[in-house]
Amino acid sequence: MIRIIFLGPPGAGKGTQAAVISEDFSVPHISTGDILRSAVAAKTELGQKAASYMDAGELVPDDLILDLIRNRLNEEDAAKGWILDGFPRNVSQANFLDKLLTEISQPCECVLNLEVPDDILVSRLLARGRKDDNEDVIRNRLEVYRQQTEPLIEYFRNRQQLVSINGHQSMDAVAAELKQVLQA
Ligand code: AMP
Repeated sequence: MIRIIFLGPPGAGKGTQAAVISEDFSVPHISTGDILRSAVAAKTELGQKAASYMDAGELVPDDLILDLIRNRLNEEDAAKGWILDGFPRNVSQANFLDKLLTEISQPCECVLNLEVPDDILVSRLLARGRKDDNEDVIRNRLEVYRQQTEPLIEYFRNRQQLVSINGHQSMDAVAAELKQVLQA
């Protein structure tokens, strides 16, 4: 059973690696960023509320995200495991998730933290060219990561759930390391 959380700054390769593991272990890859981008494209109420935050590189308010993750984890395919990518993003989301996972009896196995130096992140994000990948927004996303998401490293380390991986390697090398951790 694979139930893991991917942690790491924007551009660390969470989405890419989560997709590989999702395929290998046949469990859904749950990316809050992807869900929000679909909502924006479909112009749903959630999408309309979330768009300005995403364009600015700010976190979307928790009240828009928490129901979304609760509903997604209660879907049928998530019963056989999941990979969370982009959630939790702050301590209050992590506390919410902790309660939710206890409630639905789906404990998280481990938290994989992808480590990549800052200068590499910026050049990777600029190369990716997503709508929120221009230089000012990238800087803000990194700042938001430092202030709100990075404290989760300590949070999960204190719970003995954290496994850090060097994300500054080729995609295949990172994938091989992750696979080793998951099969251990
Ligand atoms: P990502 O694809 O994970 O980089 O997410 C893109 C954008 O979606 C972020 O910059 C946030 O604006 C928003 N977002 C994604 N996940 C979350 C989350 N868990 N909490 C708040 N905002 C989020």
